[in-house]
Amino acid sequence: LIQLAIPLNFIGFVYREIRQGLTDIEKMFDLLDVQAEVVDSPDAKELVIDRGAIAFKDVHFAYDPARPILKGISFEVPAGKTVAVVGPSGAGKSTLSRLLYRFYDVQQGAITIDGQDVRDVKQKSLRAVIGMVPQDTVLFNDTIAYNIRYGRTSATQAEIEAAADIAQIGEFIESLPEGYGAMVGERGLKLSGGEKQRVAIARTVLKSPPILILDEATSALDTRTEQEIQAALDIVSQNRTTLVIAHRLSTVIHADEIIVLKDGGIAERGTHGELIDRDGLYASMWNRQREATQAEEMLKKVRESD
Ligand code: ATP
Repeated sequence: LIQLAIPLNFIGFVYREIRQGLTDIEKMFDLLDVQAEVVDSPDAKELVIDRGAIAFKDVHFAYDPARPILKGISFEVPAGKTVAVVGPSGAGKSTLSRLLYRFYDVQQGAITIDGQDVRDVKQKSLRAVIGMVPQDTVLFNDTIAYNIRYGRTSATQAEIEAAADIAQIGEFIESLPEGYGAMVGERGLKLSGGEKQRVAIARTVLKSPPILILDEATSALDTRTEQEIQAALDIVSQNRTTLVIAHRLSTVIHADEIIVLKDGGIAERGTHGELIDRDGLYASMWNRQREATQAEEMLKKVRESD
């Protein structure tokens, strides 16, 4: 037994060492909610992109069979257009983006890109055409340049800097004592949620994908950061098929269509103006958010005058 215990101990030691090294990658996968059970079918083909039109067709999905999240969702994101999904917390907004990226498979219905079911194509080819700006971007314990270059490893320093400028983070990086060589991540400089999201946008600029998924951070950002991120996204989403998972309504005003998700279905859909005129769920969410923003601004003024 002792003879067996020693090698087992040793294996445990090696395993822990390797695991430690893998934590960054694991964390990234955890955050992205990657599920290993989604695998390529034996006859999976390369995804062929024409103009990058997305269609959700009668999509049903549940993480737990006892609790359906999406109960027959159909909508399209026409090539080059922007569609925003809004709705109460837990309505399944982020789930839609995870299904498009194929972290999970739909249980009924289908999701297609240029007419090809995402389940029938190689995952690598699917993910190569989608730029994902997640809610919370994981940074590697490396330089900020490395973290941006991750979008396209062949990118030059000049391209990295241009991407950072488009993502409205260039000036901030240049203000750091070590500039693009500054170490970030858990063992380096900790960036704020808004800064991390801009690093993710810079990565996406380098990747230059035909399809973009933006899963907005839930956390509140200050007005200036929000405006900077919005400006970056307006540039990046131009002429790209864009799905915005919106947790704040200020980013959806210019979307070509807004989908309001509630109780597993689409409660309302239309442009911002149409939905305000309708005076339904979207209009009440909008009014509530506006009141909250006004209250916050008033509080800030009171604090500043103290
Ligand atoms: P929010 O605006 O709060 O981010 P959301 O509309 O994006 O919400 P989702 O993240 O899509 O909501 O989650 C929809 C529901 O599915 C939630 O009730 C959530 O608790 C549940 N859920 C999400 N991820 C998982 C998971 N991996 N396993 C089980 N349930 C999950």
